[in-house]
Parts: sequence; C-alpha cells; structure tokens
Amino acid sequence: MATSANRPRRNDHARPFYPWPTELQILSFERRDLGLAHRSGAHGVNRPKKVAVLGSTGSIGRSALEVLESQSDRFELTCMSCHQQIELFEKQCLEHQPALAIVTDEFNPSTRQWLAASDSTSMRRAAGSEALIQSISGPEVDIVIAAIVGVAGLESSLAAVQNGKRLALANKESLVVAGQLLLSSAKESRAEIIPVDSEHCAIFQALQCDRPGANPGQSVQRIILTASGGPLRDWPLEDLEKATIQDALAHPTWSMGRKITVDSATMMNKALEVIEAHWLFGLEAERIQVVIHPQSIIHSMVEFTDGSVIAQLSPPDMRLPIQYALTYPKRTPGPAKRMDWNLSQTLSWYPVDPERYPALELGFEVAQRGGTCGAVLNAANEAAVELFLSGHIRLTDIAKICRSVLQHHNFAPTPNLNELLAQDRWARDEVMRWNRSLC
Ligand code: NAD
Ligand code: MG
Repeated sequence: MATSANRPRRNDHARPFYPWPTELQILSFERRDLGLAHRSGAHGVNRPKKVAVLGSTGSIGRSALEVLESQSDRFELTCMSCHQQIELFEKQCLEHQPALAIVTDEFNPSTRQWLAASDSTSMRRAAGSEALIQSISGPEVDIVIAAIVGVAGLESSLAAVQNGKRLALANKESLVVAGQLLLSSAKESRAEIIPVDSEHCAIFQALQCDRPGANPGQSVQRIILTASGGPLRDWPLEDLEKATIQDALAHPTWSMGRKITVDSATMMNKALEVIEAHWLFGLEAERIQVVIHPQSIIHSMVEFTDGSVIAQLSPPDMRLPIQYALTYPKRTPGPAKRMDWNLSQTLSWYPVDPERYPALELGFEVAQRGGTCGAVLNAANEAAVELFLSGHIRLTDIAKICRSVLQHHNFAPTPNLNELLAQDRWARDEVMRWNRSLC
C-alpha cells in the first residue's frame, strides 16, 4: 500500500544516482591504509590509525570507546571530547588515556576546575570548540568519530572533511543541515564520509554488491530504510497527544541519547535519515522508502533493478556500525552482539501510517527541496524537542511546529555556511515565539 510519505514525487534537483564514497575515494583511503602514502619517517607501514572520539560521554561515544578498546592493535585513541558530564569524562580519560582531552563548554566553572586539575598521566587538557577543531585538523588524527548531538557537531564534521580525514559520521544533523557543503569539501580534499547511523551503514554495505563491471549506480531501484516505530507505535492515535516525557523516552529496541530517542517517537529521526540518505548516496527522495520493522534486526535494504533485495541483519547494537566505519573495507571480530540462530525469530514489516507520524513527510519534502530547508527543519526540531523535554509542549506539537517554521522560512537554494547558520538561529527564534504565543 502506498502511503503519502512513500508516494513517488517530482524532484526538481534530480541527479544521477552514484554510490558513495566513489571508487576513487575508497581507493585513495586503501592506499593510505596500506601505508603507501606514509612509507617513511614516523608513519610506519602498519601504524595504528589515530582516532578522535567527539562526544565520548554520549551513547555513541561510550560505544565507540568500547570498540576502540577491542581494536587497540589497529587504532589509537588520541583525542576525546565532551561538553558537560565532566565526572564521567574524567573517568573515561583515566581509563582510556588519550593524548588530548577537550571539554567544549569552555565558560562553565567546572570546566575551569577540570582544566586546572592534574593527574599522573601525560594527557593534555584543553577547553573550547576552537581547541577541538585545531586538534582534529592536525596530524594527530586520522579518523574522526563524530558523535556530538545536533548542529553543534557541524563545525567539527566540516573540519574533519576539509582536512582529508575519514569521518565516521554518527552526527546525522551535519548532513541534514549542510549536506552539499560537506560533500563538496570531502570531494575536494578526498576525505571519506563513512556512515555510522545503522541504516546508512546497512545501505553502504548492501551497495557493495553493486561493484564496478556491474554498472555501478545504474542498477539500484530504491533503498528501503527500516524504522522501529518507536515506543508509541501501538498506541491509539487519539492518545498520542497525552504522551509524557517518560513514555517518549522508553524506546523498545535501542538505548540512545534523549534527543534521538524523542526523534524516534515522532519519527523525525527517520525524516532526518531520509535527508541523510539523499546526500550520502546521491539518491532522489522518490527512490527512498521507509517501512516499519519492529524488531530492529534488518537495518535497511537496497532493492536492485532486477528485483533482488540485499539487506544487512544483526542485533540492534551500535558497536557494529561504529566498528565498520573504522575498519572498512576490512572486517574484524569485535564486541557487538551476534545473532543467535538457535532462537526462533519472526521478522515483520509494514508501511508507515502518515497520520501517526506526520514528521516523516517533512523529511521527504526537505530532501526534495534542498537549499536552506535542512537547516531550518533541523533547528526547529532541536528547539521543539528541548521544549518537549522541559515540559512546555506536547509530543504531537513537534511536527506541527516544524511544518509551520519550514513553511514560513525564506528559502534560498544554494546557501553558504553563514546563511545556513543564520537560518538555524532564525528557526530557533521562531520556535520560541511560537511557544510564547501559547503561554
Ligand atoms: P547523547 O546525547 O547520548 O551524547 C551527545 C554527546 O554530545 C555528549 O558527549 C555531549 O557531551 C556532546 N555534546 C552535547 N552538546 C554539545 C555541544 N554543544 N558541543 C559539543 N559537544 C556536545 O547523543 P547520542 O545518542 O550518542 O547521539 C549522538 C549523535 O549520534 C546524534 O547526532 C545522533 O543522531 C546520532 N546517532 C545516535 C545513535 C544512538 O544509538 N545513540 C544512532 C544513530 C545515530
Ligand atoms: Mg538510525
């Protein structure tokens, strides 16, 4: 059954589909991986890759540290950052001993205390986002795991690609806000963007069936993103507006940060992922489909022109896509949970009901229109989620606010970074005005 969210539509910016990263970019990394670019000096042939984990105290950041611990012969943690939660950060630093630790919330009094503290390790301490940008731009980092939440992660994602690093991207908001800029910078510097988001990692893996000689880019019919449906999937429609913060945060299959968990309840997360897929894989919105798959075992699928569908399956565990983004194109044993084939398991899927999840439609609209739409939708959503989490609005208000702000914004088709950030600020102000008008 075709839902309005999945219905094919016209795309004004249709581009030929091409799997991403391109063969050229993959090869350029493989050459570096083999040590061909660093045969002399301090950079030995098989030296471990130097990794920065941005947002180490978060859900993805903590999983990334576990993965790195399990792969310590191949990767060296050189830099870690957090914004707040300094106590947890300090514990992580003692355990993982990065060369450099950065707290980005530089004006917080507890950051100053932390900066002044000393310990028996040789770890350097720094504060502020400028220190973060400097460190990931320099030679002490080969791979950046971008696990900061929200548009706050954009500047560091951009710095990583501008400096030719491998960007292991969990921070989908970077692509939603500035997909065009991020991709053109990556192309220029021959940086790679490898998705950490489980759906995009699944598609990235499935697309590898579409190899050179098999007419790459021509044989993909569509991609199918799976969605768990979130904690309110089976609620009666009329009860959704009564959902509390606790209800929205009780995700059935994934344990994640608060913002993305609320996004899953509204399905704004899938809307952002449609936009993310559009940029990462160069796919028009009409070739992206979303289905509800309550078990979160099939992480996404690619349907080819002959009708074959290639899916990636594994238990819901972000350590797997994080590890793959680090080791790609290789695979290594790691800490992620595995399928137990001795257990019976039923896999099911069904179409999305647009009435239950009105936010999803916005993702398709933004993927089609491009320009400033991603920055506006993302900022409106971040601001609205904060209002919901502080008890000011209902969960069902989030999609309504986002639609209204998106409709009223001053669209520009090819914005630069400053224009995108200005639209971000405008959209947040609009949401606050909307909220004040309710009080
Ligand atoms: P989280 O809230 O658990 O952690 C966020 C991290 O970002 C923390 O370390 C925090 O200190 C840091 N941070 C917050 N504000 C910051 C700021 N202004 N400047 C710098 N750092 C800041 O979030 P999460 O669930 O780990 O998600 C992180 C990113 O990964 C999000 O973009 C999310 O969409 C994406 N993602 C998460 C999951 C998941 O399973 N959690 C899955 C796919 C994608
Ligand atoms: Mg996801």
